[in-house]
Amino acid sequence: MNEIAEKPDILSLLPEELEAALAALGQPRFRAAQIFRWLGRGVRDFDEMTNLSKDLREKLKENFHLYAPKVLSKQVSAIDGTIKYLWELSDGNAVETVVMSYKHGNTVCVSSQVGCRQGCAFCASTIGGLVRNLRASEILDEVIFSELDSGKKISNIVLMGIGEPLDNFDNVMRFLELVNHPKGMNIGMRHISLSTCGIIEKFDELAARDLQLTLSVSLHAPDDETRSRIMPANHGRGVEKLIDACRVYYEKTGRRISFEYAMIDGVNDSPEQARKLAKHARAVAAHVNLIPLNHVEERQFQPSTPEHLKQFIAILEENGVNVTVRRRLGSDVDASCGQLRRKMQKQRGGQKPS
Ligand code: SAH
Repeated sequence: MNEIAEKPDILSLLPEELEAALAALGQPRFRAAQIFRWLGRGVRDFDEMTNLSKDLREKLKENFHLYAPKVLSKQVSAIDGTIKYLWELSDGNAVETVVMSYKHGNTVCVSSQVGCRQGCAFCASTIGGLVRNLRASEILDEVIFSELDSGKKISNIVLMGIGEPLDNFDNVMRFLELVNHPKGMNIGMRHISLSTCGIIEKFDELAARDLQLTLSVSLHAPDDETRSRIMPANHGRGVEKLIDACRVYYEKTGRRISFEYAMIDGVNDSPEQARKLAKHARAVAAHVNLIPLNHVEERQFQPSTPEHLKQFIAILEENGVNVTVRRRLGSDVDASCGQLRRKMQKQRGGQKPS
């Protein structure tokens, strides 16, 4: 996997680390606070940090990497105002970010990797495999630049874009610290959801961080046969172990887990599967979030019919499960993550942009 080998990445540093890095350059503490403020405002050119001396700005340029993501495309939904960005990163790779407006505020859906290695059969993000992890700063810039460009104050974050966040654990944890930092965007952990396909080996480490975020588990099937068919991550793990890991996580953190469940016609939407799902959800007091499947061109799967969806919900509710159906936002702008990047890859003949 390619990592970008460059100078230290200044935007990935926490304020205290920035202080230490500047002390090494013979700079007083307050300089770190000044620089952190510029960075938080989206300034990505040291020369625009006008309260720093020219000499210091030159030193910073010599010592640190700093880059502003460029808008490769921006689509605004005519139906609901959802905005979908495709950003170009410093090495020419591209990732997607979606800004959704709800009554209670604006939510940004960020990518955590360029591509994904998990291979879910219904997902567009994984088609070209994993290219590389995103840096903490690159994930942070998805939030900062979405807010700056859209003019919409971001109040909630979901890590539900391209990539598997728990496969990029350290950078994602650092991103969370940065975005939650009182001197930064100061977005509360209770306003952040992290979605995983079920990398249970990381659950303990995540629980140990004692964050107040919401863990969403992409379950998508309640039995091993179906789940292994559509989610390779189920191999060698299995539904039972996953549910056990969810229980342990819930007991340790006191935070309810949310199960994501994309309704796929004839695959995971039978009454029997609804009853099995209800059993799992009750066992760990999980909330179930049903997602109408977004059809992906390269995939053969279709969304469940409205009748099957209704029946499925009724069974879950009869069994005392707390269930919601996710509203489809931005359906006219390819807003299910991975689709836009995929389209661009195809247009460029499978090449990453240069
Ligand atoms: N890798 C993480 C987060 C990224 S995907 C995860 O697996 O959870 C965010 C959510 O969108 C996941 O629940 C994922 O399974 C779901 N998803 C992917 N492709 C989809 C599609 N075509 N239709 C509906 N949901 C999809």
